[in-house]
Amino acid sequence: MRPILYHKLGNFELWFLSDGELWLDGGSMFGIVPRPLWSKLAIPDEQNRVRLGLNPLLIRARNHLVLIETGIDRKADEKFRRIYGLSDTNPLLGQLALLGVEPQDISLVVHTHLHFDHAGLNTRWVEGRLRPTFPKARHIVQKQELEDALHPHERSQASYRLENVEPLLEEGCFEVVEGEAEILPGLQVLPAPGHTLGMQVVELASEGQNLAYTGDLVALSAQAPLLYIPAFDLYPMTSLQTRKRLYERWLEGRYLLCFTHEPGHPLGRLMRTEKGYQAEPVYL
Ligand SMILES: [Zn+2]
Repeated sequence: MRPILYHKLGNFELWFLSDGELWLDGGSMFGIVPRPLWSKLAIPDEQNRVRLGLNPLLIRARNHLVLIETGIDRKADEKFRRIYGLSDTNPLLGQLALLGVEPQDISLVVHTHLHFDHAGLNTRWVEGRLRPTFPKARHIVQKQELEDALHPHERSQASYRLENVEPLLEEGCFEVVEGEAEILPGLQVLPAPGHTLGMQVVELASEGQNLAYTGDLVALSAQAPLLYIPAFDLYPMTSLQTRKRLYERWLEGRYLLCFTHEPGHPLGRLMRTEKGYQAEPVYL
């Protein structure tokens, strides 16, 4: 398991956490890119799966502890865990405990979207009932994303699990936003449609430094080239437009990027080269 990385970005304290790993079909991760190209960047196993990380981010901002994403759902059955190569327990809770953080200390959770590999620890079993894992947190999500998670269509229903959504809804934990929104001073969400219609990225800005948490817009540094869009994306042409818009912003503001599914070191920066956009790792 990757150790916790700590970084101070202006007034924010950041801990780049890990919720372990997940294995997904390599072809699906790289869309129209031929295997001879992508397999140099992410080495497939005998089932053609590539290894992905799960990289939630913990932020201390004034008197708030904010969690960006809650890792992957390990409540499902053994077959589900085998398909995605999952361990039995959620490393995320152990990492929070190492930092002395109890689930009830989290006051805000920000969701890029509600797929099971991003919102999996929203709930856990407590005395035979599914309860919110972070009971005191407001859970920020785009209105569109919550609607789609509650009423998924055939193409997206395997990606959402109601058990990560309904208990929070019943207990009034969600706070929906529509479009761009400032959640705390210097912490904002921006719509990033494509992977899903309601996906958002999370940005931090403090003392001239910027960071973006990429969600599944560009989940791996190897996916940075403009057309390396996963086949999982529901609206790939929208992903392309969103990438063009946000890439320019991230280049101009010299954003540090946290790649949501990077299996190794999760931090990087975009570059524009003669071959197009690429990402380089950043070691702090
Ligand atoms: Zn994902």
